[in-house]
Amino acid sequence: MKFETLCLHADLNKKDEWGTLNQAICQSATFVHKGVDVDSPYSYSRLSNPTRTHLENTVNALEGGYATYAFSSGMTAITVSMMLFKRGDHIISTYDLYGGALRLFNNVCNSNGIEYSFINTSDIDLLEKTIKNNTKAIYIETPSNPLMEVTDIRLVSDIAKKHGLIVIVDNTFLTPYYQKPLSLGADIVLHSGTKYLGGHNDTLAGFVVCKTKELSEKILYFSKTIGGQLSPFDCFLIERGIKTLPIRMDRINDNAYKVAEWLRGCNKIKKVFYVGFKDNKGYEIIKKQATGFGGMISIEVESEELAKKILKDVKIFQYAESLGGVDSLITYPMKQTHADLKKEEREAKGINERFLRISIGIENVEDLINDLKEAIYDWFR
Ligand SMILES: *Cc1c(COP(=O)(O)O)cnc(C)c1O
Repeated sequence: MKFETLCLHADLNKKDEWGTLNQAICQSATFVHKGVDVDSPYSYSRLSNPTRTHLENTVNALEGGYATYAFSSGMTAITVSMMLFKRGDHIISTYDLYGGALRLFNNVCNSNGIEYSFINTSDIDLLEKTIKNNTKAIYIETPSNPLMEVTDIRLVSDIAKKHGLIVIVDNTFLTPYYQKPLSLGADIVLHSGTKYLGGHNDTLAGFVVCKTKELSEKILYFSKTIGGQLSPFDCFLIERGIKTLPIRMDRINDNAYKVAEWLRGCNKIKKVFYVGFKDNKGYEIIKKQATGFGGMISIEVESEELAKKILKDVKIFQYAESLGGVDSLITYPMKQTHADLKKEEREAKGINERFLRISIGIENVEDLINDLKEAIYDWFR
């Protein structure tokens, strides 16, 4: 089956006694045993639940994994993946990382004895130099959040193999529709299913996709021990979102390209961070490893006043955190996703009071551009 079909029919095992077309929401914490020593497919929903199994099988097929586990948020998925490491282990990570992951690594995992080096993972020489005897994994986001830097997954995976490290890729931004890290050599793929997979800004979810039986047995053990699984109703919502993932991504991809081009031509915008520009330094790599550019654009505008004016005056774009849904959103990273960073660190990365991050939705693209024009220039008023 091709990707678009898999989004609807990847898990053909869902048939139940009623013949429901959609996987039924199985709202049960526990399951009745058929007898002592008689195998039952389900026993307790922290271990597994039919609605969740169906969703896990779907995401697993889309990413091409050995097994996938669904959690109550992207952060839960990231946290569970960190259980693979212990005191004294060292992990190399992209320096431009989702703010929540940074907070987890720096303030929680670090206190528990796991050491991190945050580097520009697109610099392969630097990556090799950063590997130490106790290095266990390389953790990347590509494109990164919010600077849109691209890391070569295949190259990083080759280096990791040479040194016996595992590669973890947060694939939230491009989704398996555009990028399949496991096929490029990664060992674990993480998702905030809250974003494009769910796609409607109505449900939090997270996924851990494992490439091997060995990794998946470990993650399953952590999952059943820790908890944090996605609830049956939320599984249903994410499953419903995934059915339209390809058509949403196509529209979002087209819209983002056009909005980025317009922003680049706008005299009030100093810099546009978008991976689809031919002169972007990650362009050749993203063309090689992905089939689309996604819907994320960051911009640096002329002044702090203009950044605030855009947030205040947009009508179709909403000033809200999150990304990846059908509605277009704008966030102010310094006040929101990256508010926890030290000021110097944040500014060194260019995340200042003039920096905005945009998530493009599925609206009509002319309406989106006009909304920005109006907010920036007060045109049409
Ligand atoms: C949102 C996000 C997360 C965290 O996911 P939640 O579902 O909000 O917990 C992790 N990584 C990336 C890239 C994200 O955008």
